Amino acid sequence: MSRRWLFADQLGPHFLDDRHQPVLLIESKAVFRRRVFHRQKAHLVLSALRHRAAELGDQARYLRAETYRDGLRRVREPLEVCHPTSRRALDFVRRQERVSVLPARGFVTGLDDFADWADARRGPLRLETFYRFARQRHDVLVEGDEPTGGRWSLDQGNRQPPPKDADHLPVPAPPMPREDDIDAEVRADLDRWEREGIRFAGQDGPRRFPVTRREAQARLRHFLRHRLPLFGPYEDAMRSTDPWLAHSTLSSSFNLGLLHPMEAIRGAEQAYRAKAAPLPSVEGFVRQLLGWRDFVWNLYWYHDAGWRDSNALAVRRTVPAWWQELDADAVRAHCLTDVLGGVREHGWVHHIPRLMVLGNYALQRGWRPAELVDWFHRNFVDGYEWVMTGNVIGMSQYAHLGQLTTKPYASGGAYINRMSDYCGGCPYDPKRRLGDTACPFTAGYWSFLHRNRQRITGNARLARSMKQLDRLTDVDAVLAQEKQRGDAAP
Ligand code: SF4
Repeated sequence: MSRRWLFADQLGPHFLDDRHQPVLLIESKAVFRRRVFHRQKAHLVLSALRHRAAELGDQARYLRAETYRDGLRRVREPLEVCHPTSRRALDFVRRQERVSVLPARGFVTGLDDFADWADARRGPLRLETFYRFARQRHDVLVEGDEPTGGRWSLDQGNRQPPPKDADHLPVPAPPMPREDDIDAEVRADLDRWEREGIRFAGQDGPRRFPVTRREAQARLRHFLRHRLPLFGPYEDAMRSTDPWLAHSTLSSSFNLGLLHPMEAIRGAEQAYRAKAAPLPSVEGFVRQLLGWRDFVWNLYWYHDAGWRDSNALAVRRTVPAWWQELDADAVRAHCLTDVLGGVREHGWVHHIPRLMVLGNYALQRGWRPAELVDWFHRNFVDGYEWVMTGNVIGMSQYAHLGQLTTKPYASGGAYINRMSDYCGGCPYDPKRRLGDTACPFTAGYWSFLHRNRQRITGNARLARSMKQLDRLTDVDAVLAQEKQRGDAAP
């Protein structure tokens, strides 16, 4: 049986054909020299790789090398590798004579299956139609060909703001891992690398995300039993005192390959059948995994490499230094300082702060989408190019102009005010667009619509906002104010 080379995001048993298959793991330091990663992300990836090597014992050959190429030079035997998750890595493995490349694993809908589905579409590829296809194809939450519960999406009931009378949702926090000797060794190595000149972003901290399959399975079981029931209603809510809410916090575990998404999907389905979780929560969770995660994975490969550089709104501004450096202390806007601070502290915030605070702010300012893909990739524990290209290019920055979403995810402070507790403690007023207390999101929203009027005219979902824009009597003053604010931290 050939030795299987596992990348650091291919760590679960489903990346092997046999539990005794010989394995190669290569730790490349050059990855961390090339770009500035969040320190906790670097820790997570290295710790996961080294823990996998420790689990496999003599079955694995573990090489520490400057580059993958250097590591491969020390291996004489033929190798197999599962389809890597980035174009750069795929190009590299395909150029290696002794390495055979196997189909991708770790996702539910295969690349060929997706391409057949997408080729048969006319018009834009939408999550809703893909998700319906995937539910039927993989027999998830369906009765015959019909959706369990009668509707494919139960999202309408899943958009509740955080409860006003409690700091935390009444669910136990996700079980936090206990660090061990391998974590201590990783931390010491990262300290040494920093002294040698390798730079990291964010704060170091106790490890908060699983690095072994056992830790990931424990977190999944805990989520299904204790947190899933409230996941649905509060999946879009934001609360300054409770960053985790009822989210699974398993995205990094799926993206490291520690868990296969289908085991979580079947687990959630089972929770519904056992009446342990309501259907809207289960459906919302399934949609994120079987729907969105597989959708953006497949789109990354379905589109050509140029998709990552899409910039349909023709924006040119570069991401400012305070954002790049996660300098939450430079920001007064409460929502943004809390969310950016969350990234700095944990390398993670859930999908709504990403989309409606970070993505929304960047979209309004007109920052370059490709820079944002890179920023999200480097600073989030679950960030990889395949996932951030879909999230940023396809969704949050509208850089593919409506090919994935029916309207840009731009909104004023009213949305954040409704879905969070942020505005109460903010020096800005979500209702104001002009003056010293003008909310940067509200002013930014009108400025965004004005700037992109030609590109988004005709979008039916924005027709009302465009009419409102036409009725604003102070729009010139708002534009002048936003020009003066520029990209300074708000
Ligand atoms: Fe954010 Fe505006 Fe609310 Fe302040 S007022 S928290 S800037 S949305």
